[in-house]
Amino acid sequence: MKYRELKRCGNLKVSEIALGCEGFIDKTAEEFRGMLDKALSLGINFIDMYTPNPLFRDHLGAAMKGRRQELVLQGHICAVWEDGQYLRTRDVKKAREAFEDQLRRLGTDYLDIGMIHYVDGESDFEEVFHGDVIAYCKELKAEGKIHAIGLSSHNPVIARKAVETGLIDVLMFSVNAAYDMQPPSEDCNALFDPASYQKGFAGMNPDRKALYELCAREDVAIDVMKVFGGGDMLNAELSPFGVAFNEYQCIEYCLTRPGVVSVMAGCHSESEIEKAVSYYDASKEEKDYSLVLSQMDKFIFKGNCMYCGHCAPCSVGINVADVNKYLNLCLAQGQVPETVADHYKLLEHHASECIACGRCEGNCPFGVGIIEKMKKAVEVLGY
Ligand code: SF4
Ligand code: SF4
Repeated sequence: MKYRELKRCGNLKVSEIALGCEGFIDKTAEEFRGMLDKALSLGINFIDMYTPNPLFRDHLGAAMKGRRQELVLQGHICAVWEDGQYLRTRDVKKAREAFEDQLRRLGTDYLDIGMIHYVDGESDFEEVFHGDVIAYCKELKAEGKIHAIGLSSHNPVIARKAVETGLIDVLMFSVNAAYDMQPPSEDCNALFDPASYQKGFAGMNPDRKALYELCAREDVAIDVMKVFGGGDMLNAELSPFGVAFNEYQCIEYCLTRPGVVSVMAGCHSESEIEKAVSYYDASKEEKDYSLVLSQMDKFIFKGNCMYCGHCAPCSVGINVADVNKYLNLCLAQGQVPETVADHYKLLEHHASECIACGRCEGNCPFGVGIIEKMKKAVEVLGY
């Protein structure tokens, strides 16, 4: 397992492969413990708990007894349980009761991340950030009941506004190659609608790209939901591309987006957890999503670096994907942010070492002018 840092949460380390909770919901206490044991034994230490289902909370509380410190817990504020079902609310009285219920059932006195649940609409954003919900989150953070404030969203415009408040430490966002084509919408169902993909798209949606770059610059950690698009990405008939990705390609795609720290895989069994973690044993070819993307006529990525790494190895060892990522962060900002300069400095080889041999360009499925990019990186980043 590999780990990445939640920079705004005391550099807490979280596993790149993490767990969503939906696959745990209908499990017995014994099955639940088996899945948690399996996850921990494979190095997974990060779990999202969007569901307010009391049974889920009881089972997790029992399964993690004595092991609280081994887990990074991400709970959702404003997801409540009412009349035997899940409900999203902005009623802070209900949110408070649900949060206290969560701590009690889990047997802990804090959550690492308290995530404001599911903000996709403009008016909802206004209500959350100019009302009681954000005040409640600040209160929880000041009391140490949560160590970081997060927000979950499917809408890149709203997510960006939230990050720009400076109050958000972690963003849970829906990321996969199909959703990344889609323009922003307040209705997340558009993401799942096959009709949304029929006309084709010119590469990655600029609002999504800008969101990921903003998060990377501001050290706001993105943890990913919908990595497999609810399973559609894995099925040629359901995939909007008409081609199936495999699990490894989906995970690799997410982990190579700027700002992303973890993918929350929706595993329903111990074997599905093993399958997700076997990503680390997969070959470079098995993980390579660039070949699938570059073969599509309706979706045009030409000239845009997708950070896929397919151009490696560079003759002098430059990590071209990382250089391009940092370059794009600077270009989007119109300056060199300190965080980006620091990350760039840590690279083993820099753009200035490029000898313009052209080896990488022949390997890039998206026709990126890499030699020009390296020159631009030297101009912008200095070396
Ligand atoms: S330059 Fe091309 S091959 Fe290299 S990371 Fe970017 S898109 Fe992938
Ligand atoms: S052109 Fe530059 S970046 Fe590409 S392989 Fe050669 S040295 Fe590396």
